[in-house]
Amino acid sequence: MEQRRMDYHLHTLHSMDGQQTVAELCQSMIDKGVQEICLTEHIEPGHPEEGMDVPPIWDMYFSDVLAARRMFPQLTIRTGVEIGDNSLFRPQIKAYLDELPLDFRLLSLHLVNGVDCYDISHYFGGKTRAAAYREYAEAKAESILAWEDFDSVAHIGYVAKYSAYTGAERALVYEDAPDAFDAILRHVIGLGKCLEVNTSGFASTGNTFAHSSILRRYIELGGELFTFGSDSHGVDRNYADVERAKEMVRALGGKYQASFCQRKMTCWLL
Ligand SMILES: [Zn+2]
Ligand SMILES: [Zn+2]
Repeated sequence: MEQRRMDYHLHTLHSMDGQQTVAELCQSMIDKGVQEICLTEHIEPGHPEEGMDVPPIWDMYFSDVLAARRMFPQLTIRTGVEIGDNSLFRPQIKAYLDELPLDFRLLSLHLVNGVDCYDISHYFGGKTRAAAYREYAEAKAESILAWEDFDSVAHIGYVAKYSAYTGAERALVYEDAPDAFDAILRHVIGLGKCLEVNTSGFASTGNTFAHSSILRRYIELGGELFTFGSDSHGVDRNYADVERAKEMVRALGGKYQASFCQRKMTCWLL
């Protein structure tokens, strides 16, 4: 088993908030010695902001990926989606995905009871930290437990990315909701799915999403499979801190990272 430089959470102009073309993404990854990437463009059914609920135009997405594979044969380019789960639209989301021949499904959650956590005044207003963070953890558990047909669980701890809290209070840690996290982790492990280590957390919390305390618990419960992603939307952050996160997970006892082709997993040494 070999090691591999991979980034499995990336956005291009095919996402409504992406800021790089597929070709720009690929060139910058090759410059960093990355061997494999997966484009995980957003779908956000029922997002309260009109501009957010705009899925990729999939024909254009697939033709862009085919062109990039021809232009950059040294880079493995996988197709994926970041599923912005929404319990009100779940049956439609699942049916929609079944029509798409993607390599990888990243199960994500941005909306908590209809509000995106990045809408700080709305989401955190009138709540204690404990209540705001627990509400997120419980919504994340509800989301994950409602799914079986996914590959990796995105950024547990998203609530802390644009949080009203700072310093030691910023990150969402295992102790904030052990029951919810145990339910999530046992479900993921039982299905043989992956936990994402999202490096966009370093900038805001000094740690990953999920936080190292949650990654440690996952390993303690028998979890072995991780995907790593920068969650980059532009050339400035492609593959940012992925090697740093891998080092952190190795130190916690993690062993493997996964890649996907047509939903089939391959394991690599961390
Ligand atoms: Zn996300
Ligand atoms: Zn993302």
